[in-house]
Amino acid sequence: MDTTLPNPISQKIDELWSEEIDFLQEISRFPSISGKEKALQTYLADYLNAELGLTVERFIPDSKEIADHPGFSPPEWGYEESDVVIAKQPGPKNSIGNSLIFQGHADVVSPEPLSLWSSDPWVPVFRDGKLYGRGVADMKAGVSAMIFAYKAILNAGYKPGADFMLQSVVDEERTGNGALAALDKGYTADGALIPEPFGLKAAKAQVGSLWFRISMNTAVKDKNINQVVNVVERSQVIISALQEYEKLMNERPKPDAFKHMPHPVDVNIGTFHAGDFASNVPVKAVMEGRVGLYPGQSINKVKKELREWVSKAADEDPWLSKQPPEITFFGFHAEGVEMNDRTPFFKTLDDAHETVIQQPAERSVLTSTTDARFFNLYYDIPATCYGPDGGNFHEIDEWVDLNSVKQVTKVYAEFLAQWCGLVPQES
Ligand SMILES: [Zn+2]
Repeated sequence: MDTTLPNPISQKIDELWSEEIDFLQEISRFPSISGKEKALQTYLADYLNAELGLTVERFIPDSKEIADHPGFSPPEWGYEESDVVIAKQPGPKNSIGNSLIFQGHADVVSPEPLSLWSSDPWVPVFRDGKLYGRGVADMKAGVSAMIFAYKAILNAGYKPGADFMLQSVVDEERTGNGALAALDKGYTADGALIPEPFGLKAAKAQVGSLWFRISMNTAVKDKNINQVVNVVERSQVIISALQEYEKLMNERPKPDAFKHMPHPVDVNIGTFHAGDFASNVPVKAVMEGRVGLYPGQSINKVKKELREWVSKAADEDPWLSKQPPEITFFGFHAEGVEMNDRTPFFKTLDDAHETVIQQPAERSVLTSTTDARFFNLYYDIPATCYGPDGGNFHEIDEWVDLNSVKQVTKVYAEFLAQWCGLVPQES
């Protein structure tokens, strides 16, 4: 590969930098919470087509079409406001390299509770080289970086030497069905990069995630019992059981990638609803949560284990045993994955990182799930996450480090140049 290319492209990224920051701010103003991505997707589709000359296709994920896929997660919501955007640049007739996907997700999680933010989460603000706002790190900065990497290549007078796609997918934060639907429709390539904000380190493994819902009811009809039982108080039995299960999961032998971590898998209770009046005794409660899985762990086995664990705890309780809690599963049914990081794909990424950052490439091991799993597990496409540095993802005062965004933009341009090859635009 012609190593004289990166310099003009790197220069273009510097020249485009203030435009890239404006773009990042612009897309961060869209409150694109999962299920409400459409306005942002329209903005991105128009930009990719009008500004970058890409052929843009849009589609709404159809749960029925992917329901039998092993990577499918059952949603309890529709995708009417969640269309996937695919922007394509076909390679020249005689491609000189590998085809490539840069993929980001448009959705973000809720910024609640709003009152705890230092400033409006939908009005991104700069402080000390960082940009603050909901979704700026996860992952609008990455989306900006991947788009401007491509834009810089165009502005330098080149285009990819192989088929290339920029994709903006949806519902990554609850299911991953946007990315899955795109693969299922045939939007594939020889490799894919996802700029999730894990600090300029390529992910070599990630846990899976399974969502559960536990419904409890202590309204027991029993002639011999003259007492109303408070379901919130009894729910402690189930909460303790879940905490014990989490402990057990983390004490078990860990896959190699996770061995250095004391606590790689979380069992988290994310919502709890009970009661509607301060002076009443609540008898119905529903809690929802998430359990982490190691790569190779079967989702069905974890479901079975969780069911057994919860019913054992309920059996030992005089009240919950009368009407055992019901456990169901929805949303994330994501398997964990370990990537093979000794492939030409990773080698190219490491080279691009070393060229731009002038530091040895590092790896990350993720205790959350990402869309990279679909490519690796079900399509045999090498894929990983590599993105900027940030913090407070899904939390109050989310931020992204701006210098790292520029670095990622350059690494993505370099990666594209190396992986796809570049040809002059006129050809
Ligand atoms: Zn993300």
